[in-house]
Amino acid sequence: KLHNTILELKGNIRVFCRVRPMLPEDGVGTDMVVSYPTSTEALGRGIDLLQSGQKYPFTFDKVFNHEASQEDVFIEISQLVQSALDGYKVCIFAYGQTGSGKTYTMMGRPDAPDLKGLIPRSLEQIFQTSQALKDQGWTFQMQASILEIYNETIRDLLASNRSHGMDQTRTENGVPGKQQYTIKHDANGNTLVSDLTIVDVCSVNEISSLLRQAAQCRSVGRTQMNEQSSRSHFVFTLRICGVNENTEQQVQGVLNLIDLAGSERLSRSGATGDRLKETQAINKSLSSLSDVIFALAKKEEHVPFRNSKLTYLLQPCLGGDSKTLMFVNVSPDSSSAGESLCSLRFAARVN
Ligand code: ADP
Ligand code: MG
Repeated sequence: KLHNTILELKGNIRVFCRVRPMLPEDGVGTDMVVSYPTSTEALGRGIDLLQSGQKYPFTFDKVFNHEASQEDVFIEISQLVQSALDGYKVCIFAYGQTGSGKTYTMMGRPDAPDLKGLIPRSLEQIFQTSQALKDQGWTFQMQASILEIYNETIRDLLASNRSHGMDQTRTENGVPGKQQYTIKHDANGNTLVSDLTIVDVCSVNEISSLLRQAAQCRSVGRTQMNEQSSRSHFVFTLRICGVNENTEQQVQGVLNLIDLAGSERLSRSGATGDRLKETQAINKSLSSLSDVIFALAKKEEHVPFRNSKLTYLLQPCLGGDSKTLMFVNVSPDSSSAGESLCSLRFAARVN
């Protein structure tokens, strides 16, 4: 593996906080309740949250305020993305309540070049670098899969891409049919999900079209797409195999980019039935993600990977010498202060 400095200070887990700007939707008369004690620039390390007259200070590896551009954010993660080409297993998560900017951070607005998020930027960088490394004898093969986890059930978002045609077993409401999507890990640390579509990709354009397809698939059969997608985890995985014809060196890296389900406490609104089940599934997987990252950071012997589909799926990419970055996305408005405080506390626990 090539030299990489992201691990220089402490373990392999980083937490970046990003605060979105105030939006018209936040309502007239709502106040901004976050401030930045350590920096007047878009990028600092400290963030203070005001709630009910009380100030709560937090420190993270990096804090991006509402002025940070998509490029400002990408500059700070590009080295981490690069390390997937060096053979590392990398996970980048976006955590936060619905409306806090997770999807903006991960996907951005793909139509506007300046507003592209870190998924398209990362993929562009990976393909550019892999091309450039050809001169040194490297050849890379990439495979992509895109899935979501909803109610502890995996759904293949590229199923319709299969050579044998449409996935007929999916029912109208997006509940999977016969496919089991059983997760297995082999001795080499590779994850195999039965029935999951895996697509060989050679260019950014190919991946962009897969991402569009996945977005389409995510919305099929759903009446309230935003409602639903905020209750599932979106997992994009790029597997990278590199071989050097001169040195016979081989690398196998993985880049996982994950837009998590909204972290808001839905139970407060008196959820019942399906909604309650969703809420419990989300709470379970987000709290087990926190438990896993916490146990890894503390170097505990037992890491409870098996407590949720998400952590079990990502197990080989979370432990060992893999690298994890968690974005905690925060809304700055006073009506979100309670949820923002919960998100910052969650992030502080894993930091
Ligand atoms: P989430 O995915 O967490 O539910 P979104 O990413 O959809 O939240 O963001 C909610 C709204 O805020 C969207 O309209 C999005 O465009 C906007 N937004 C989020 N972050 C930013 C940002 N950093 N700059 C400008 N607009 C943002
Ligand atoms: Mg979203």
